[in-house]
Amino acid sequence: MTPAVTRDSPLRALLGGKTATVLAEQLGISTVDDLLSHYPRRYAERGELTDLASLRVGDEVTVVAKVRSVSQRRMRNKRGTLTDVVVGDGRRSLSLVFFNQPWRAQQLAVGVSGLFAGKIGVRGNQIQLTHPECEIFGVTSSDLDSDPGALVDDVERAQTYASQLIPVYPASRGIQSWTIARCMRLILDAVEEIEDPLPEAMRERRGLIGIRQAWRMIHRPESLDDVEPARMRLKWDEAITVQVTLAQRRVAQAGNPAIPRPVREGGLLDAFDARLPFVLTAGQQVVGAEIGHELGGHKPMNRLLQGEVGSGKTVVALRAMLQVIDAGAQAAFLAPTEVLAAQHLRTLRSLLGPLGNAGEFGAEEHATRVTMLTGSLSAKARRAALAEAAGGGAGIVVGTHALLEEIVQFAELGLVVIDEQHRFGVEQRDVLRAKSAAPPHVLVLTATPIPRTVAMTVYGDLETTTLTELPAGRAEVSTSVVPIREKPAWLDRVWSRIVEEARTGGRAFVVCPRIGGDEDGDDGDNAVVTQLIDDGDESAEQGAGNETVPADEEAAAARRAPRGVLEVADLLGKGPLGGLRLAILHGRLPADEKDATMQAFAHGELDAMVTTTVVEVGVDVPEASVMAILDADRFGVSQLHQLRGRIGRGSRPGVCLLITDAPPDSPARGRLDAVAATRDGFELARVDLAARREGNILGAAQSGRRSGLRLLSLLNDEEIITQAREEATYLVALDPDLTEHPALAAQVMALSADDRADYLDKA
Ligand code: ADP
Ligand code: MG
Repeated sequence: MTPAVTRDSPLRALLGGKTATVLAEQLGISTVDDLLSHYPRRYAERGELTDLASLRVGDEVTVVAKVRSVSQRRMRNKRGTLTDVVVGDGRRSLSLVFFNQPWRAQQLAVGVSGLFAGKIGVRGNQIQLTHPECEIFGVTSSDLDSDPGALVDDVERAQTYASQLIPVYPASRGIQSWTIARCMRLILDAVEEIEDPLPEAMRERRGLIGIRQAWRMIHRPESLDDVEPARMRLKWDEAITVQVTLAQRRVAQAGNPAIPRPVREGGLLDAFDARLPFVLTAGQQVVGAEIGHELGGHKPMNRLLQGEVGSGKTVVALRAMLQVIDAGAQAAFLAPTEVLAAQHLRTLRSLLGPLGNAGEFGAEEHATRVTMLTGSLSAKARRAALAEAAGGGAGIVVGTHALLEEIVQFAELGLVVIDEQHRFGVEQRDVLRAKSAAPPHVLVLTATPIPRTVAMTVYGDLETTTLTELPAGRAEVSTSVVPIREKPAWLDRVWSRIVEEARTGGRAFVVCPRIGGDEDGDDGDNAVVTQLIDDGDESAEQGAGNETVPADEEAAAARRAPRGVLEVADLLGKGPLGGLRLAILHGRLPADEKDATMQAFAHGELDAMVTTTVVEVGVDVPEASVMAILDADRFGVSQLHQLRGRIGRGSRPGVCLLITDAPPDSPARGRLDAVAATRDGFELARVDLAARREGNILGAAQSGRRSGLRLLSLLNDEEIITQAREEATYLVALDPDLTEHPALAAQVMALSADDRADYLDKA
């Protein structure tokens, strides 16, 4: 008796060594499960021919076409024959060239149609495939070259195309789409005994088909109507596996509770609220109450607070920190850069006033202290800060990643606030968590909206809350695109506008995509820009492309280098901004110099600053009223929005000028127009997401296969994810180890054993 086939069974035993080796080496497919989850990229209809006009030289393609003519001749200089088979789609033609294979003339007779795969070359102005792989529809004659391993007999081959729909798989040079289809057919027949991981009751509740039926319908659909229910069911498998993992983790966390830090009447928080110079917005009150409640519980808070730039997240975070201090613990406030940490230190100190300078003259009775720990502190200042953290003298410790160092200890860490999530990795959150015996509560602040489903899945279960309104009395910021390709004269108006603002007490930022200068070392700022250049414009399919998508803009390589701070500052200083007090700010400057420049700008000792994206976050200068962004098309939508948040922070109306030479109809211009059209960060986040591929949002390491998510889209399948979460919570509550559902338990185990899903453990 042969052992039963399971999802883990190696393909080697089922397909024959040669095919199994090619699958493993070229596509990383080695088990039954790997193969079954290698889904068709699309389906070709037998009667439908590939649009040959869409093919580009150099592409690896699989096309459906019909033979129009065949000619054969002896080669002039060499011995042998040359067979030229012209196939067409009705409009354009593609030439298939074979050397010394005269039998091709019989195989590929006029009128025959089939699949042809290879790399597109060109001869004269005719595109061609040299020695393509060929698969003829409905022909049973033995075709010598097409199949590694004697996998199928002729009868089966004829059946392969009995259906009108041909699955087109991501393939590779060594193994063709149709070979994968045949392997699939064989495996589908072998898995009849496999148990369905989804409980029947759940399938019924959610209207899902069985797993074996789903595999059949996605790999061998009889019509396109089969595909959707199959995809739906298979997406559920992906969603439920992740959600069960998370539900189990929640149960486990309940066994490692946080220390409750409930509100204490008459403490620092009350004193703070009493001296707050403004009224909290309704949103701040609701979110504040929610956070306050969670901090008072045993369950570790793990919350993401999203809100527009300027929506008042810092105040919300500070109130949470004060509650924790009132309860006898400390808070750590983690910022992505030194400039920003310094800014937070000042902001927190000034918001706290006499409540934040314990031990100094004029401090309130139960005041606390705010201290800062960054990499650039002097040895003495560092020792003092370390002592204040470890001794508990500092209620709030603000810092950069220096806070993560092992030597940094807290007397009693109760809350970790992380500003600007997108700059911090999950691992770093973990290090901070590990700095206290009981897990601290965690509050993440971000101005870059993260879809709820992504937060729920990739960030391992952050609960999300959103501040939707801005505090009243915020100045208007108007944004315009300055298209210098069509309107070169407008650039002069930008500079005269800046001069005008400076004359009336305003201040300006001129933002460039990079630092520039001769040494173009890899500093942080440039890395950001390089990444941004790729954003959104990238539409090429990955893998062995069976289809091509025309690139929507000229190649990045062909572009002019983006403008640099150093050159621009030099030009402006000698030219149009000659009369102004001008300085530069960028990531390569020493921390104290950056800080001094920022201070000078904030205090009005400078009129304008030429800078990189280092100003993107945090720095608060109410008088800043103009921002001119050079090569604005080199920035991402969300980043432009974030940059723009630096102006209009006081009562002075702001003007943001997006300077670009992108052509009027380009996607880049479309993105800039979108930024100009709205100040709604959430709307822009949607534009941004739409412009990118999902993989880029999740980061390369978390996209596609590597995340274990193949069909499920974190952006588009919110309903499935939400429902799967409900089901998972329910299942795990009744049966934490899933003893009643061994097949599902095995699937969950496989996910956590798989380092592809590492991100789940780190979150
Ligand atoms: P965010 O961190 O969300 O960008 P901040 O917390 O830095 O926003 O707030 C921006 C500015 O608005 C700060 O100067 C802050 O003191 C002020 N602010 C916060 N909440 C309010 C409010 N309810 N009313 C008026 N001003 C507020
Ligand atoms: Mg802020």
